[in-house]
Amino acid sequence: MEKYDYLIVGSGLFGAIFAYEATKKGKKCLVIEKRKNIGGNIYTENVKGINVHKYGAHIFHTSNKEVWDYINQFAEFNRYTNSPVANYKNELYNLPFNMNTFNRLWGVITPAEAQAKIEEERKQAGIVEPKNLEEQAISLVGTTIYQKLIKGYTEKQWGRKCTELPSFIIKRLPVRLIFDNNYFNNKYQGIPIGGYTAIIEKMLENVEVKLNYDYFEHENELKNIAEKIVFTGPIDKYYDYKFGKLEYRSLKFETQELAVDNYQGNAVINYTDYETPYTRIIEHKHFEYAKSLGNEEDEEVSKFTIITKEYPMTWDETKEPYYPVNDEKNNLLYNKYNELAEQDKDVIFGGRLGTYKYYDMDKIIEEAINSLKNEKII
Ligand code: FAD
Ligand code: UDP
Repeated sequence: MEKYDYLIVGSGLFGAIFAYEATKKGKKCLVIEKRKNIGGNIYTENVKGINVHKYGAHIFHTSNKEVWDYINQFAEFNRYTNSPVANYKNELYNLPFNMNTFNRLWGVITPAEAQAKIEEERKQAGIVEPKNLEEQAISLVGTTIYQKLIKGYTEKQWGRKCTELPSFIIKRLPVRLIFDNNYFNNKYQGIPIGGYTAIIEKMLENVEVKLNYDYFEHENELKNIAEKIVFTGPIDKYYDYKFGKLEYRSLKFETQELAVDNYQGNAVINYTDYETPYTRIIEHKHFEYAKSLGNEEDEEVSKFTIITKEYPMTWDETKEPYYPVNDEKNNLLYNKYNELAEQDKDVIFGGRLGTYKYYDMDKIIEEAINSLKNEKII
């Protein structure tokens, strides 16, 4: 007899939602997590009053009301709006590309002038049908923006030339002919007051969780422990890389505490030149501490700040796989694993790594809800 209905591998957002809903319906779940803490990549740690995003800046955004209502059961969100600034060799530009950016770059005043400038650069480049990220970017925003704000950042982030990258990566970057520095086009956006970890803690409140517990180190003892496995780790590793390894990008986070109140004046500054080895610096307090976000001045927190530099890295098995590399080659390989997964009725693959998809949190919630519906749990 199996002891559990579900063995859930991974305590990230997907695993936690699955465990929460299944437990609520009387299913017995065991969550195992190889890290020393729950939450996966949305884990935040409270350091003397500042919620530190340990695995990179996480801003919740969605246009799906069902998803927004779902996550709001677990936390109240502030009205933080992501408006990153790009630093290109000490020239500062607003992101995403909007009238503020175009004015700073070219001195243009009106949307028509900005459009004409982009059009002129596009024409000069002579691209008819974009075949890769470089061509896609130039045909979206012209050569100047590509050179200053896209090329260096993207080549650092992905470790490849823009001519060798798929264009879909850049489609995530909005272009606007209005003076609006809001990075996301979504209807709802914010940061959970109290941090993301509190959300996962609530979800896992009534669930048995084992930390520092890697599925692959305990495969034998876990074999018949549950009716089904919900696996949110890398799908290729689950199948022992039998068709070959999928590619991922990894990151190194370098966090520092500094004895200044305000280091960079914004939560996120991107370094878009190629030479600076990191892609962005996060100053964590700005996600929550601006007065406009409803916070009273906190004297303790005004004495220091915490920043994190994010360095992209080539992935190997000793590193965390943060980003799937969804190019054609990897997607074809993933399809082979997915075919196996579809035959395997005892395992449900979920989350960013289980489905090898560059999903944001809102999409993960949607997917978790779909999986729960498939299992007839909700
Ligand atoms: P994960 O959070 O990766 O959880 C998987 C868990 O499984 C991990 O805790 C892992 O340790 C565990 N695990 C893996 N293998 C094993 C094993 N063998 N045994 C036991 N446990 C295992 N999304 C947004 O919406 N907004 C943002 O601003 C945003 N910014 C991001 C910035 C960065 C740098 C990154 C990397 C991602 C960002 N995301 C953002 C995406 C977001 O992190 C993901 O959508 C979400 O965290 C995925 O949840 P998950 O449960 O699928 O995976
Ligand atoms: N990007 C860029 N310049 C920037 C920010 C992003 O060229 O200043 C490109 C880069 O290729 C990146 C992609 O846009 O991989 C998506 O960026 P986003 O910040 O949305 O990605 P995240 O890393 O947060 O998932």
